[in-house]
Amino acid sequence: IEFSTLGLSEPIMQALALKDYGQPTPIQAQAIPLVLKGRDLLGIAQTGTGKTAAFMLPSIDRLILSNKRPQPRTCRMLVLAPTRELAGQIAENAKAYSRFAHLSVATVFGGTSINKNKNDVARGVDVLVATPGRLLDLIEQGFLTLRNVEVLVLDEADQMLDLGFIHALKAIVKLLPSKRQTLFFSATMPKTIKELADRFLTDPAEVAV
Ligand code: AMP
Repeated sequence: IEFSTLGLSEPIMQALALKDYGQPTPIQAQAIPLVLKGRDLLGIAQTGTGKTAAFMLPSIDRLILSNKRPQPRTCRMLVLAPTRELAGQIAENAKAYSRFAHLSVATVFGGTSINKNKNDVARGVDVLVATPGRLLDLIEQGFLTLRNVEVLVLDEADQMLDLGFIHALKAIVKLLPSKRQTLFFSATMPKTIKELADRFLTDPAEVAV
């Protein structure tokens, strides 16, 4: 299978051409067409499988197609990640993949100045990558709302639970519009994760690698 058969648009294919990826990984080959169709997705995949591109490439493609401007203090795509390191990596990928689409990308995580976070989201961003605790702080202080989120991604959900983010995640889901696309990834799928996934997802397609 080749990237060119998956249905990705021209700006995404141009960004991919700058990467030396060759062919899509199995999770990419499975997930990309489903996400492009607008399906919710439950993905069971470890780090190193190419899962970041599996959710980021088609989500960015849909942001390009829906062609809205982010409103002040909102984001169009929200990616939740357990750690600042992972959030930073995901944001770097988002910037690289959206290079020819001119989308804005911001990252917020704890341990840094909330004033900088506030400034970064003040005009609105297309893609926001966040850890759950700091995201809630920003919302509670009135610097951000989630009412315009079109696409939500939970990455490494099992890690987020291990780090004690369960209450933050349950609070965040209540602030999201019910009409949205949700992509939920975890390396493992014990009962607690499955129950969390059920709260977030609507009729998801399942992919496992
Ligand atoms: P991830 O599983 O998302 O953490 O990605 C692991 C690594 O694989 C990252 O360095 C990606 O840049 C790289 N990668 C992602 N997709 C592909 C691909 N189709 N072919 C080769 N490398 C890839």
